[in-house]
This record gives sequence, C-alpha cells and structure tokens, in this order.
Amino acid sequence: MSVLRTQVGIVGAGPAGLLLGHLLHLNGIDSVIVENRSRDYVIDRVRAGVLEQGTVDLLIAMGVGERLQREGLRHDGLYISFSGHRHHIDMADLTGGKAITVYGQNEVVKDLIDTRLSTARPLFFEAEDVSVEALESSSPLVRFRHDGADHEIRCDFIAGCDGFHGVCRPSIPEGVLTTYERVYPFGWLGILAEAAPSSTELVYTLHQRGFALFSMRSPTITRLYLQVPPDEPIDNWPDEAIWEEMLARMTTRDGWMPSVGRIVQKGVTPMRSFVATPMRYGRLFLAGDAAHIVPPTGAKGLNLAASDVLVLARALKAYYEHRRTDWLDEYSNVCLRRVWKAQRFSWWMTTTLHRSPDETAFDHQRQIADLDYLTSSRAAMTSLAEQYVGLPMEVGLDSVGLSSTPHRVS
Ligand SMILES: Cc1cc2nc3c(=O)[nH]c(=O)nc-3n(C[C@H](O)[C@H](O)[C@H](O)COP(=O)(O)OP(=O)(O)OC[C@H]3O[C@@H](n4cnc5c(N)ncnc54)[C@H](O)[C@@H]3O)c2cc1C
Repeated sequence: MSVLRTQVGIVGAGPAGLLLGHLLHLNGIDSVIVENRSRDYVIDRVRAGVLEQGTVDLLIAMGVGERLQREGLRHDGLYISFSGHRHHIDMADLTGGKAITVYGQNEVVKDLIDTRLSTARPLFFEAEDVSVEALESSSPLVRFRHDGADHEIRCDFIAGCDGFHGVCRPSIPEGVLTTYERVYPFGWLGILAEAAPSSTELVYTLHQRGFALFSMRSPTITRLYLQVPPDEPIDNWPDEAIWEEMLARMTTRDGWMPSVGRIVQKGVTPMRSFVATPMRYGRLFLAGDAAHIVPPTGAKGLNLAASDVLVLARALKAYYEHRRTDWLDEYSNVCLRRVWKAQRFSWWMTTTLHRSPDETAFDHQRQIADLDYLTSSRAAMTSLAEQYVGLPMEVGLDSVGLSSTPHRVS
C-alpha cells in the first residue's frame, strides 16, 4: 500500500475541490485531490453556467480567469416574463455596476484542472472505494484504490468537496448533523441546442403551463429549461415535443421566442433545498454541495461552493501561518450566513416562478402580483439584482493573499 502525506486531503474534483486546491497552492499549502470519476466525465458534465460577480473576481484574482475573461458572456441584466410580456431588470444599474457572467461550469472545471496539473500537485482521477477515517484525530486519513493499488493519505485536515452524493457527509456519525430539507414537486428538463441565442440575456418565464428558462452557453449554443414532474422520464420528451412546449411557454406577445436548433443534450434534474449543519466534524470540513443544495433557479450552487472554499482557505492559511484555530472553529457559522441567504433567495425564485401541483387559483394570482410588483418597483428590482449578482462574500479576497480589485468581463 502506498502512503502519502499531505496537509489537506481534498475529496472531489468539482468546483469546490479544485478551487480549494488552487487557493491552498497559492498560499504554499500542500494538498492531494481524490476524484472518483474520470477527467473527461468531470469536464463534460453540463451543469451550472451563471457566475456571480464575486466568483468572477475570485477566479481572475487566482490567475485562472484568462479564458473566462475572453469567452465569458457578461450580462448586465435579465428578463422576467409573465402574462405574455418580458420585463427587463438592469442589474448593473441597480447594483453600482455589478453583473453576472455566463461561462459553463464545465469550462471552469477544465480551467481549474489544467491549472492544477500545471502545479504538479497530486490529483487522482478514477479513484475507487474512497473513504475518510479518523476524523476526530489530528491525523485523519483518506483511503482509496487507484490503478489496482491501495493508497492511504495521511492529512492534517480533510475537505469534503464530494458533492451531494459523496462519501464525506455520510461518514459523520449519526446524530451529529442537523439537516434541513425541502423537496419540490417538480424538476427541470434541460436541453443544450445548437441555436444562436435569440436574447443576449436570460429570460425567466412563469406561464400557465409552468416555468421555463431561456439561457445560453456561447454565441452558438442555447441552454433552455422547462418545469416538468420531478420523476419525468426523458423518453416522454421527443425533441419536437420539447420545442413545442418551449415555444408555447416562452413566446411573448411581441413575437420574441427562442431560436430552434438541433438538441445535443437533454436530461431531467429534480429540485431540492438542503442544508447540513455544522459544516464540520473534527478535522473534516464540508464545502459546496456536500453540505448544501439549492434548486438551480437562483443560480447559486457553484457560487456557494466558491464562497465556502474561500472561507476554508482563509482558516487553513491562518492555521499554517499563525497556528490560529479560531477561524477553523468559525468556518461553519461564517459559511452558513451566506448559505441561508442563498437558500432563501433560491426558494423565493423557485416558488414565485413555478406552478405547484397543489396550488390554488389564489396562489397563482398572488404569483402574478408578486412579479408585477417586482418588475414595477425599483426597490424590489434592486433586491433581486443584488442577490442575483451575489451578496458580498463573507471574507475578503485579501484574507487569502489575493487582490480584491473588481473585474469586468467584456
Ligand atoms: C441542471 C443544473 C443547473 C445548475 N445551474 C447552476 C447555475 O446556473 N449556477 C450555479 O451556481 N449553480 C448551478 N447548479 C449547481 C452547481 O452545479 C453545483 O452547486 C456545483 O457543481 C457544486 O460544486 P461542488 O464542487 O460542491 O460539487 P460537485 O460539482 O458535485 O463536485 C463533487 C465532485 O466530487 C466527486 N465525488 C463524488 N463522490 C465522490 C467520492 N466518493 N470520492 C471522490 N470523489 C467523489 C464528483 O464526481 C464530483 O466531481 C446547477 C446544477 C444543476 C444540476
């Protein structure tokens, strides 16, 4: 069996694990990343696409934003559509110049993997039987099999960045965590289509037939979503039926509609809100989807993963440089302040824009009134805008030795 020694063992090479690995590297802290999927699988997984201003600033300050600055699509606003009309919300105007950037999660992950490999610090793909042990000791372990051999990593700390279905959270003894959960009675059918986006900004639609979202990944690829039942088999949806439903829900009275093209990827995602507290057990720290899940309506999941690992990197830096443990102790509480605000926002976006199977006619009229108020009140639009572009990170980039200059993606 091979035994490796490192300072921080990171389980999972999604956005949380890769970002943490590089933040630690930039601060001279050693880590080993262990991922159970292949490199291609991790890069090809199509998921998030909306980066908050703070996430963009973090990636650029870390030196991994070069392609993001070249290829990312800056959006100063978004549209809310209901009763056949689109209403524009100018987020940059309402937030003093902040924006979101559309840049696929798979592109972020690709950039982070390339950067990790260039540092020559270890990153194992296709690790089997990953487990974490001795979490309460001062030398916790990550064990796995790789290329037919057993490996053991002896660490000072373990970062559980292995997503909602990973091994880290379930390794915490029963009774330690308190969990909060809401499962929604709908899911999203998402498609990627070879069609030039017919709007330069996202369009969130509440229609009689349910929610729909128009978004994009590039100047030639449109990304669209439809509300469907949570367990809807994708085979129920031939491509023509998907386009028929997309057009029925999204077309507005002024004739705007998504451009139609060849569907190159489709799938159904259930929606849930979930938080496990505290985000720490002994020397194991949970970050990102391993600790919390939001429904994708507010586009917050990847952004929360980024803000968690910034807080964790600050605490680990202070530990290694000054033997401070207070920021490690505060990690969970500091993260949860932002996590719960993002939970609230994501829940609000979801319940305001989707039709629930048990809703009454009153509920639907209230939703319309909510959207009418939202799109006609500068105060309400400002509230949405400042949450959508991202509430401030709980700790500054300077706390991990980075410049905190805001950046603009053209
Ligand atoms: C359809 C959809 C749309 C979304 N849209 C947005 C959006 O617009 N904006 C946004 O911010 N968020 C969005 N999200 C959420 C976002 O994708 C997640 O929040 C984000 O991926 C979380 O990153 P993470 O690193 O915490 O977890 P993950 O990305 O899940 O990464 C965890 C990693 O750990 C690995 N792993 C799992 N188990 C093990 C194990 N036993 N051993 C080793 N490795 C393991 C996994 O393979 C994975 O690579 C969306 C999600 C979906 C599904």
